[in-house]
Amino acid sequence: MDWSDIKYFTREEFRPEGHDGDFDMGIGFILKLDNFRSQIDSPMVVHKNGGFAVSGHSENSLHYLGLAADLHVREQGSDRPRDVLEQALLAYKWSFLSIGIYPFWNRPGLHLDDRTAIGLPKKVWFQDRAGKYRYYPYEDFHRCVRDLIVYRERMEKAPEGGTAMTRSVR
Ligand SMILES: [Zn+2]
Repeated sequence: MDWSDIKYFTREEFRPEGHDGDFDMGIGFILKLDNFRSQIDSPMVVHKNGGFAVSGHSENSLHYLGLAADLHVREQGSDRPRDVLEQALLAYKWSFLSIGIYPFWNRPGLHLDDRTAIGLPKKVWFQDRAGKYRYYPYEDFHRCVRDLIVYRERMEKAPEGGTAMTRSVR
């Protein structure tokens, strides 16, 4: 693809870790990402091995096709990621991509992918503290966000290492 049309990202940001060979990102995906970035007044940081990947992601990962990125939206003038829910809301409004929300990464952020490019329906999800994924159809984005808000509140009340969720069931 031709990176000269891309304003906010460089090819190197998507290079797989320790991979000197050729790789290529999907042009439609990068255009959507670049457009998303142009709509918000905050830098975006692609994570290590979070662009094109040759290993390190789940089987059938869209990273292997150059159709996904793991990243976070930074606060302006700071190194900190913006609140992950704020990142997700911005991505929903501007990226038109599938959105995975990862509140428990070291630097909380998003997985964005263009799965419609290979004929798959758009999805949203979040990963809970135990690493489990909770998937929703794209149309249920707001339900996903609401469930994550409730989940986070429960986690904040839970004692270290325990889960308030199992407690409330008992
Ligand atoms: Zn990812």
